Amino acid sequence: HGVLFSEVGRPCGVMVLVNPQSGRGQAMALYNGHVQRMLTEADIPHTLVITERPNHARDLVRNADLTQWDALVILSGDGLLFEVVNGLMERQDWEKAIQTPLGILPGGSGNALAASLHYYTRASPVCGEDLLTSCGFQLCKGQTSALDLISIRLSSGARLFSFLSLAWGFVADVDIESEQFRQIGDLRFLLGTLVRLASLRVYQGKLAFLPAENQPETHSGENQLLDHLLVPLDQPVPQDWTVVEEREFVLVLAMFQSHLSEDLTAAPDARSDDGTMHLLYVTAGISRAALLRLFRAMQSGTHLDLGCPHLVYRRARALRLEPLSPAGVMTVDGERVEYGPVQAQVHRGVARLIAT
Ligand code: ADP
Ligand code: MG
Repeated sequence: HGVLFSEVGRPCGVMVLVNPQSGRGQAMALYNGHVQRMLTEADIPHTLVITERPNHARDLVRNADLTQWDALVILSGDGLLFEVVNGLMERQDWEKAIQTPLGILPGGSGNALAASLHYYTRASPVCGEDLLTSCGFQLCKGQTSALDLISIRLSSGARLFSFLSLAWGFVADVDIESEQFRQIGDLRFLLGTLVRLASLRVYQGKLAFLPAENQPETHSGENQLLDHLLVPLDQPVPQDWTVVEEREFVLVLAMFQSHLSEDLTAAPDARSDDGTMHLLYVTAGISRAALLRLFRAMQSGTHLDLGCPHLVYRRARALRLEPLSPAGVMTVDGERVEYGPVQAQVHRGVARLIAT
């Protein structure tokens, strides 16, 4: 743990990035109504940057002079932080750049990381503006902790870094379809889930993973972030991987934080720097009623206690997922990515997060 904003005699600056289009389009109102005052009262000098388009934040942090900034704070949903993380990792000096402390204030419709950080404090669950206040407190305290990044290799060879989730099947479809309901905020996931339940389908694919117990250490030795656990897609997975026998799924979800959205605790044991992928998958044959029960239990993080025979939960360090259907949706941190075979591996504690 480190502490920010405490070095005497040194001007500190925080860049606050706001996506005015996120959520219900309320992020600017949250800034004007709460965030600005909170930062001023805590004596944290900051500069407001309002994004003008998708990838604006990504381009900006890719080229920014980071010596000017003590932290980058995102007031938006998870999507804007995803841009910032990937912009930092695209830099020549990524090793240093990714050490820039990152803060998140919930201003979008998908505020899963913010909800996770609140959950890790063990305080009772909150939502909406109370979640903003909780995250604002953590920000003003200025303690930093480590954040795992998950390297994701898409079939084109492109590499992405994720801090939240990789989804395919039911959850990915809900993520993207529910964007049309952005106006209702976080409720969009609930409505999206109900809509998808009505047209529940099966997704064919192959899944394999490296169980956490087979790979106690996830540091890659040198600081190069090599994906040393992965072998090329045209080769079979290594011997110590588990190949899932089932080929028909309702969903595959790899969680890297506890929360899938503000009110879904998909991986109750996850922590920001546990070096672990929390892999959940639901196999075909589950009834609509049972699936709905799972999602309802997920609101209190008790879905793993239901004994549902179609739900499997495993801790992993790496995975390979090969969808067999030609077209579909795959999301990383709630953002749609190129569809096709993917591999992923955890890199423990690579980034820094302002959180207690
Ligand atoms: P939400 O939680 O509401 O989805 P996000 O922060 O995830 O909010 O942002 C949603 C999408 O908006 C992201 O894909 C992001 O890249 C994009 N985006 C960022 N800035 C803007 C902007 N100014 N106008 C439109 N889209 C933007
Ligand atoms: Mg989003």
